[in-house]
Amino acid sequence: MRFTFGTCSRHTVLNMYKQTCTNLLELSSAKVTEWLASFDSVITDCDGVLWVYGKAIEGSVEVMNTFKASGKKIFFCTNNSTKTRSELLKKGVELGFNITESGIISTAHATASYLKRRKFDKRVFVIGSDAITQELDAVGIRHTQIGPDPMKGSLADYMSQHLKLENDIGAVVVGFDEHFSFPKMMKAASYLNDPECLFVATNTDERFPMPNMIVPGSGSFVRAIQTCSEREPFIIGKPNPAICDALIKQRVIDPSRTLMIGDRANTDILLGYNCGFQTLLVGSGIHQLADVEQWKQSKNPEDKKLIPDVYLPKLGDLRPSLICKRSSSIH
Ligand SMILES: [Mg+2]
Repeated sequence: MRFTFGTCSRHTVLNMYKQTCTNLLELSSAKVTEWLASFDSVITDCDGVLWVYGKAIEGSVEVMNTFKASGKKIFFCTNNSTKTRSELLKKGVELGFNITESGIISTAHATASYLKRRKFDKRVFVIGSDAITQELDAVGIRHTQIGPDPMKGSLADYMSQHLKLENDIGAVVVGFDEHFSFPKMMKAASYLNDPECLFVATNTDERFPMPNMIVPGSGSFVRAIQTCSEREPFIIGKPNPAICDALIKQRVIDPSRTLMIGDRANTDILLGYNCGFQTLLVGSGIHQLADVEQWKQSKNPEDKKLIPDVYLPKLGDLRPSLICKRSSSIH
């Protein structure tokens, strides 16, 4: 059984909402239907949009599955470098999402693919988790071990007795590493002192606010390595358009008819801006309408890029529009 959202003029809808942060809940159902027909591919962030703390956010499963059932292509795109593509697939399927592995874009997988495309044949010094090393193994790229690498004794003791630099390292990859340490910084900066050594960051998400605490994100570790190495990394994840390059170049998606959904503007919405996608900010994660108001008032042109086309408190708020549309157009 198939159902459609019909068609409409893409330019009318695109121009109408471009970077206006229009609240979809304030539009008529006819306007929402028109907006729904203006895209046929959906790329969505995961944490804060689809799920939070391992649980699906109310209505997100129904909305994504209805998009897919209506013929839209759907992709989950996460900067989280601690999970392989197959682990993300397993999590998505367990929560009820109708998704396949080819629909999952993850930074651990994309990092390994990037090095493979460059025909990288040395070893990688990894600051990160086993999702990165598993994805490197899957494409046959050698790497160092992950896990704790604590300081031993004083700095003088460490330098004279414990520091061991290897001579076959050709890249430093930095992702989320709960065992980040001074020795790891020192080794990374020493390897990067060779200008031939690649510096690759899975992503630059600064932090994850949790109830009563802040968890540092990969961006915090990347900045530390940037500072001590005096090198700029190649960033794999959002907002770098490289993460969607293959989809665009292979014409899997048409950027002007692609919707990017996210809860963090400086990664998700900025990726949409950089790729020419339509953008939807949801308020179920990091950034809220109050943040958008600040960017609207800001004199910094970079802040203007963070303003989404449309907004919803949460993705599940689209459910009534989709169910209504589906029941009226099933044939
Ligand atoms: Mg998020």
